[in-house]
Order: sequence, then structure tokens, then C-alpha cells
Amino acid sequence: MNKDLNKVILRFTISLVLLISLNLYNTSYSFGEVNKLDILIQNQEKQEELKEKINELDNILESKNQDLKVENGQYVSSDDSKSLEVVTISFVPQEYETSKIDEISSEIVALEENRNILDKELQDAIIEGVQLEKIIEEEVKAKLKSENIEFVTGIWPLNDYKDISSGYGYRIHPITNVKSFHKGIDIPAPQDTDVLAIDDGIVSFSGYQNGYGNVVKIKHFDGKTTVYAHNNSNVVKKGDIVKQGDVISKVGTTGNSTGNHVHFEIIINEKNINPIEGVIK
Ligand SMILES: [Zn+2]
Repeated sequence: MNKDLNKVILRFTISLVLLISLNLYNTSYSFGEVNKLDILIQNQEKQEELKEKINELDNILESKNQDLKVENGQYVSSDDSKSLEVVTISFVPQEYETSKIDEISSEIVALEENRNILDKELQDAIIEGVQLEKIIEEEVKAKLKSENIEFVTGIWPLNDYKDISSGYGYRIHPITNVKSFHKGIDIPAPQDTDVLAIDDGIVSFSGYQNGYGNVVKIKHFDGKTTVYAHNNSNVVKKGDIVKQGDVISKVGTTGNSTGNHVHFEIIINEKNINPIEGVIK
């Protein structure tokens, strides 16, 4: 088969796949009745998909560049301590050699073009996401001002468990036996009970921290931060956009903990408040 035709078909196919995927993104982006938070979630998904595609392209490009080096007779053994091992291609007819190099080169050009388009798309999505976050924050702040309140009251972080085993304030620490300030409330519940986001927000931390064990922290659009600690597992990751009531983790007893419970905190203006003031029980 004609090699030039092959190249054309390859470039056309890559471009077509790209165009279709970009169009799918664009159609999901029509504003209107859609909730701004949903648009922000779509934006985040778009960013993740684009990053994944760019990653895939980078891997393909790396292997194509490696192929090109081999074809050019520049292939070098990965072990630098050995003498340079050059792959010889002396048995390959000269004509074939050149066209193979041309073919790989044009594939690389096509892939790089597509990578640039995806990268531009990603940069646009990042800017769009930041702008959307700002718009949502401003709307929430306008609401706070008009209602003359400091923050948005959230829902209780567990569905069926409302008891508090240890309240906010000074207490004798159950592990150290030393009087210390308890920055949150402890809500006991069975292992793997769903822990819920008390309000809309963006996950600012999800991971393991000394004392807290597995902990999720959410930055909300009104400026408050909530903390959910001692989880058996976290189900969200940093950067995830969560809606009020979304499951963010599962109850556990990781870190400094004597039994299955959620240690829950609310922080406003970098100060902890009594969390029961910030949620509806
Ligand atoms: Zn606690």
C-alpha cells in the first residue's frame, strides 16, 4: 500500500478522533439552567480527561522518538557504563530506511500538533475553572451579606448517628490523659458508615496525617473549612468538587483514636468554632 496514503489516513484519523472528543466537551458546556456547581464539576472532569489524554500522547511520542532513534541508527543502550551499543540497520535497504524515518517523523509531527491543541484546551479549562470558582464564591458571599450571616450552616455529617461522645473545648485527652483543647466534636458510628460533606466545596486535603489518621478537609465557598478525621478510608481526592451530602469518607478509627468515630471540625477565618454551631442536627 502507498506509504504516503498511510500517513494521510493516520493524520486524518487522529484529527477526527480529537475533533469528536473536543466537540463532546463543548456540547456538555452549554450554560442555561445548569447549576454552576455542576458546570464546575464538568470542568474538573474535562481537566482530568485532558490530562489523561496528554499523558497518553506523551507516552506515544516517547516511544515514537525512540523508534526514530533506532531507525536513525542512534539507538544507545540504556546502560551508560557499557560501551555505546549502536543498533545497525545495514541489512535494511536504503530506500525503505528513509521512508520509514519519514513515516515516523510525520507521525511525530501529527502527534505533537494534537498535543498542542489538547494543552491549549487544558489551559483554557483551568482558567475557566478558576473563574467559575470565583463566580460561585462571590455569589455565596453576596448571599451571606444579604442575610447578614457569617457562614452557611451545613447538614450533620452522618445520616443516622447524632450522639456526641466528646464535645468541643477543654477535656482530658482519652489517650494522653492530659488536659487539652478538643478542636472538634466526636461522633461515634460503626466502621465504614458514610461520612457526608456538610456543604458544597472543594477538597483541599485527603490523606493521612499524624493524630488525625485518614482525614478529609474541605474548603467551602463561604470561606469555612471542615475537617473529617479518623476515617477508615477516604473516598475523595484533593481538588474534587463536592456537593452537600456527598459521601467523602468512611468512618474508622485511624490515627490517635480509641474507637470508630468521626472527629469533625469547622474552621472560620483560621479559627476553630464549636462545630455544633455550624450544622443542623
Ligand atoms: Zn475528636
